[in-house]
Amino acid sequence: MALKTFSILSILIFLCVSIEAIRFDNYTLYKVLPKSLEEIKILEDLQNSGAEYDFWDDPVPTAEYINILSKPELKNDLENFMGSYGIDFLVTVPNIQKLIDNEKKGKYTRNNDKSMKWDEYYDLEDIYAWLDDLAAKFSQVSIIEGGTSYEGRVIKGIKISHGPDRRAVFIESGIHSREWIAPATTNYIINELLYSDNEEFKAATRDFDWYIFPVTNPDGYVWTHLPEGDRFWRKSRRPFGDQFGVDLNRNWNTNWLEKSSNLNPASNNYAGPGPFSEIEARSLSAYIIDMADKIDLYISFHSSGQILLLPFGNTTDPLANYYDAMWIGRRAIGALAFKHGTQYTIGNIAEAIYFATGTSVDWVKERLNIPLAYCYELRDKGVFGHALPPDQIKPTGEETMDSVIELVHQAKRLGYMVPYVEKSSASVLSVSILMYLVVAAKLFL
Ligand SMILES: [Zn+2]
Repeated sequence: MALKTFSILSILIFLCVSIEAIRFDNYTLYKVLPKSLEEIKILEDLQNSGAEYDFWDDPVPTAEYINILSKPELKNDLENFMGSYGIDFLVTVPNIQKLIDNEKKGKYTRNNDKSMKWDEYYDLEDIYAWLDDLAAKFSQVSIIEGGTSYEGRVIKGIKISHGPDRRAVFIESGIHSREWIAPATTNYIINELLYSDNEEFKAATRDFDWYIFPVTNPDGYVWTHLPEGDRFWRKSRRPFGDQFGVDLNRNWNTNWLEKSSNLNPASNNYAGPGPFSEIEARSLSAYIIDMADKIDLYISFHSSGQILLLPFGNTTDPLANYYDAMWIGRRAIGALAFKHGTQYTIGNIAEAIYFATGTSVDWVKERLNIPLAYCYELRDKGVFGHALPPDQIKPTGEETMDSVIELVHQAKRLGYMVPYVEKSSASVLSVSILMYLVVAAKLFL
């Protein structure tokens, strides 16, 4: 009996220890404002020194600011370090645990898709349940599986289709798990596509097939929600010795490992042991390959920085249809600013943010020749970063939806996207001719 009691006690103690949350009490978020290339270099050396700071942005020459998260015992060192070099900085969040405590509230009610709210963040189980319920409710919605994860989870998405013969928009989101605003915004877009009364939104839903994956790194996303997990986990969860995870947006087979990535499993930019070594990127890419000839527009959602990026990340040369893509993108960020005044910048990945290779948007552009590929770095601009408060989900969703619809609108004007037209005998010939011209034009991109 005593032994039994002891065993139960041991199990209870073990459980208490094993589910103890990784907390961020008195962790401070800094917004560092380098004034020169010299200061950028000093920050880069600090990042590479092995010091235990979490750099949410890389110190690169184009950086306007760099968010750094510091544990309490290292804050004095960091502030003294920056003071000694005259580097300006602000404290934007003195105690980031307070933000974390306020953001974990969402609970979705099964069979009530209206219970998904736009001022709460949801975990994977809730998002997947919501997608299942949408598929059960709407005849034009079906569940799609874009691949699997290392821990055996499905990369679940939905297809919205009002009939055959439509060109497609593909949305991939949440590949970096701590960027919670990306899946939340993607869910908001799904909701608008299905429920909005806006005529332009309805037309976009009707005229194209939408393939949407809110969470393409499900293991990482689950880890950011688990009590024993880490709210600021970015990578997948495959173990490498005593380290975990690959940066899944450095693992795609395009100029793999060339820029902003490395072979160190402890790094947040670990590219993996080889291109497409990771089942998440590999299986999702196989899914995309199978339908590549349908896709006119590919969108990837990340945060943060308020930047609209387009390929490529390995060169600042204006390759492929760069000028058309920039023209369309500029109008999209104009539409984004309309409702809440949120200002974005735009550029190819290498000129607007930093050289980075092995990314999904580069891969779909280079390998599959998808006409238009964009990556949104959503809100904000250095204040809350990955801890964006949930009261910003709705405005972020609204402005991003406006922007995506403007992308579609301008892409149609330039002939990159051809909406579905009901086939009357009079229109069949003209649509066929138009399709032929678009295909011919793409061959020369
Ligand atoms: Zn990201």
